Amino acid sequence: MTNYENPMTDDDLIDRRRRVLRGARLYYDVPFHPVRAERYWIYDRAGRRFLDAYNNVPHVGHCHPHVVAALNRQAATLNTNTRYLFDSIADYAERLVGTMPPGLDAVMLTCTGSEANDLAWRLATTFTGNDGAITTHNAYHGNTTLLDSIDGSTIKVGRAPPDWWSTVPAPPDAAAERASAPNSPGAYAEAFDQAIATLHAAGHQPAALFLEPLFCTDGVRVAPRGFTSPAVERARGAGALLIADEVQAGLGRCGTHMWSFERLGLQPDIVVLGKPMGNGHPLGAVIARHDIVDAFYAKDRYFNTFAGNPVSCAVGCAVLDVMEREELRANAQRIGSMLKTALQSLAREHPLIGDVRGQGLLLGVELVEDRDTRAPAGKAARWVINELCRRGVLVGLTGPDRRSRNILKIRPPMVFDETAIELLTTTLDQTLAACASAMAA
Ligand code: PMP
Repeated sequence: MTNYENPMTDDDLIDRRRRVLRGARLYYDVPFHPVRAERYWIYDRAGRRFLDAYNNVPHVGHCHPHVVAALNRQAATLNTNTRYLFDSIADYAERLVGTMPPGLDAVMLTCTGSEANDLAWRLATTFTGNDGAITTHNAYHGNTTLLDSIDGSTIKVGRAPPDWWSTVPAPPDAAAERASAPNSPGAYAEAFDQAIATLHAAGHQPAALFLEPLFCTDGVRVAPRGFTSPAVERARGAGALLIADEVQAGLGRCGTHMWSFERLGLQPDIVVLGKPMGNGHPLGAVIARHDIVDAFYAKDRYFNTFAGNPVSCAVGCAVLDVMEREELRANAQRIGSMLKTALQSLAREHPLIGDVRGQGLLLGVELVEDRDTRAPAGKAARWVINELCRRGVLVGLTGPDRRSRNILKIRPPMVFDETAIELLTTTLDQTLAACASAMAA
């Protein structure tokens, strides 16, 4: 049991982890050791307070009292599996469907985003009878054997990609890549024709197009509304279903909409949810057209011991309660655009910033060696996130360049406010100035 009064040193803990957890990675050069958290504050064991501008899992705020109370109450009353009758699974499924556009009316619950994407794939292959997958070049959709084999976000040593997987570029970001091709919806759709032709040449028809509508691991891209629609129609025309992966960008994070596929103007066949749904409790979901789900159950079965249990459903409902009561989607829109403006003014001061992009509370700050060539400043980006942590602010790193991730990922709990913006931007300003000196030295 954790002993907060007399904790072991971090070096002891790192050593014990290495022995039993082997290659499991820790974030930051000096690993961060938090012991408690609330809202967007996270405290280390010395009682020092850090600003959490990174973690999207505690979506409605770390340890939100309403969510914790719902979890405690249900855990103290009953926790069992989905083959018995209880109210909250129907309540939760109805409430999820109520957040979706008409037509997305059937729910299957999972414990993780990976399980949900894997299950979405089973639905798509059963419904279409096809076996080909299309993703964007650098997309990550999860950790199952299937999803790992179509993971474009990490380098796989000594392993060839399967011939039933084909990739397309993420759409150009509206601001960042004005000049780069494909820069029109028509040209973008042609990239999909190529991916489909590649699958055909290998003897496969596409079953699914997985799209993550804010393209996080592709570097955070805000494509104009409608930009991806002709491309999606090409994939559909070739037989694919559209799976919108809302694991990162969903549940109001983009600010303008509850789901980020809506801001792209897309109507998916299947939507995948995860991470933020349970505010830290493992909860995910597939929401699909009922004809797709019925076709699946006619041929196959799905059972998941833990998913959709009464505790999970109570937690899921409590998260939705907080979203509504505290109007957190609207907060993401208001605070997200204030934060983006503040970051853009930092970009005017610091040549290291090549671009600020994203929407709502999912923002990327791209660091570049040179604004013209846009060569990724991966070394500086790593320096900056480590130094930010040392100065008490947590942000992450992403980017399509797998060897040199250079985009600061700012994706805080949805309760972020003006105080948090001030602290984040002041600290980032100082850190970027220090970085310029450190890199020049
Ligand atoms: N899809 C996306 C877009 C993700 O970001 C992630 C997790 N990073 C997953 C799927 C997988 O979710 P999980 O880790 O809960 O399995």
